[in-house]
Amino acid sequence: MRRYLFIILLFVCAILIAGCTSPSTGSDRTLSPTLDVTATSTGTATSSTASTPAPTYTAGGTTSGSSPAGAGTLRVSVLDVGQGDSILIQSPGGKTMLVDAGDGDAGPTVVAALRARGITSLDAAAASHAHADHIGGYAAVLSQFPVGRFYDSGYATASSTYERLLTTIDEKNIRFSTPTAGQTIDLDPAVRIDVLSPDATPSKEIHDDMLVLRLSYGKVSFLLAGDMAEDLEARIATSLRSTTVLKVGHHGSRTSTSTAFLNTVRAEVAIISVGAGNSYGHPTAQALSRLQAVGAKVYRTDQAGTVTVSTDGNTYTVTTERTGSSTQALPVATTQRPASSVRTTAPASSGAGAVAITALDLKGETVTVTNGGTSAVSLAGWRLTDEGAKHAYTFAGTTLPAGGSVTIASGDGSGDIKWKNANVWNNDGDTAYLYNAAGSLVSTRKG
Ligand SMILES: [Zn+2]
Ligand SMILES: [Zn+2]
Repeated sequence: MRRYLFIILLFVCAILIAGCTSPSTGSDRTLSPTLDVTATSTGTATSSTASTPAPTYTAGGTTSGSSPAGAGTLRVSVLDVGQGDSILIQSPGGKTMLVDAGDGDAGPTVVAALRARGITSLDAAAASHAHADHIGGYAAVLSQFPVGRFYDSGYATASSTYERLLTTIDEKNIRFSTPTAGQTIDLDPAVRIDVLSPDATPSKEIHDDMLVLRLSYGKVSFLLAGDMAEDLEARIATSLRSTTVLKVGHHGSRTSTSTAFLNTVRAEVAIISVGAGNSYGHPTAQALSRLQAVGAKVYRTDQAGTVTVSTDGNTYTVTTERTGSSTQALPVATTQRPASSVRTTAPASSGAGAVAITALDLKGETVTVTNGGTSAVSLAGWRLTDEGAKHAYTFAGTTLPAGGSVTIASGDGSGDIKWKNANVWNNDGDTAYLYNAAGSLVSTRKG
């Protein structure tokens, strides 16, 4: 595999020297499609990878066998790295894999998150693609932790960050692989990791040639969509399956997370890795409303901090950093669950799922929130925003009794709660968004 690393590295150097800003031709990818899993040893001495075999790479689509669910806990943490991605996988057998490391500034955050979990080495690391908000943090991570194997999309791009990453991988003798769709990554025999992208035949756009992984452990599965946009969603449509947890593509951008994609994936939990107040407008109202339309429970790292899903293969628990106690143990329906019953496992039983925006009067400057459930719900910490979150109202101690409503007024409007004297709502059309205390979108209403 070293030969392939060199080829990519040379290619990156060449396009950097040439000052070429056009995307890769992709021709480098065809040079070495073969995978050599035994090429080099790590040579790192102090790592626990010395005592535990580094993950072997399965160059083929063969199954890793049935998952002995219940034998241990799989933890997938979407780390709060601001605007970027970094996902930590801790397998039931104690193996660790990091998928992306945030941007350069997030490096120390990722290092601290790994240390806080008692991790001293990584069995595997991966880069979904070479954008800085996904690989920048690897400079810090690779300087602090021995890594058994590095998985890369193999899409060479003119970026000094990417060049530095490849150089470090080379200098540290980390085994390097560029898996393609249809193959699997063996981290832990209990967890199947399917590679859904990139294709062996590359397209010529970095987000279309990303490394996209799907993990499954018993009945619970995870789709790590990187910065996948609609094009790639459509391209891999045939290999998509219903998946419990979706790491939402491209930080909730408008061109990701299409309805067609969501209708196939039918995620129960959607996690958006996004920086507060980012300049891209992520996550977009469009992506959020599409996620809401399929009933996914949305978590955002800008609001909830690090979001961790723990599972024994049968049930799963979502834990958020900033609301540490608000965990939910959700039974997972059978994998054959019909579309119409997908939402029966949503946390509506708590009563909070029955709270919704029931009216939005743009001209009258009022919005009404109603508890349609059978038990009282505290709205403390819940948030109401307009489109684009130009204005936000955070509820204090309001508790809505079963069947109760509260009207929040702005401008000249009148209601139970006065939000602000200025007008909030755009009379030409606006949407109200209601988030619960965990930062999850629970209701939207167009006015
Ligand atoms: Zn990104
Ligand atoms: Zn990207």
